[in-house]
Amino acid sequence: MSAVDGYAPQMLSPAVENLVAQLTRLPGIGSRTAQRLAFHILQASKPEAQALAEAIHEVKERVRFCRECGNLTEEEVCAICRDARRDRTLICVVEQPADLISIERTAEFRGLYHVLGGALSPIDGVDPADLRIAELVTRVAAGVSRRSEYLKM
Ligand SMILES: [Zn+2]
Repeated sequence: MSAVDGYAPQMLSPAVENLVAQLTRLPGIGSRTAQRLAFHILQASKPEAQALAEAIHEVKERVRFCRECGNLTEEEVCAICRDARRDRTLICVVEQPADLISIERTAEFRGLYHVLGGALSPIDGVDPADLRIAELVTRVAAGVSRRSEYLKM
């Protein structure tokens, strides 16, 4: 048992309770892990904790979606879309920027991407209008042709 175990949320100060609550909202973070992370942050030096807070702040200030493909970027258009060596006759449609990163790691795909920003889910109220489908249609209509080439993964 670690020192964190056994701490009921009401035993924590409101500020720590708030930090735990915020951390619990992250995917895959349960209340126990959130408490462990909160205690880690509390024990870290002030500059270290501030660096974490600033990284979160900066990412929200600087990172946006690429105007062309919806990838994450700090520019108007992402590095992949700007890269003249990419095959502009191929578009790989992905759900999230994380999927694009996975494919880029394979170094097998030299085309462009289109990030939908989610998946259709009528149960969750996600319909085509919530995804970047209209933008994809516009891009394809603007001249990216389909090729019967499959991505080897
Ligand atoms: Zn892009």
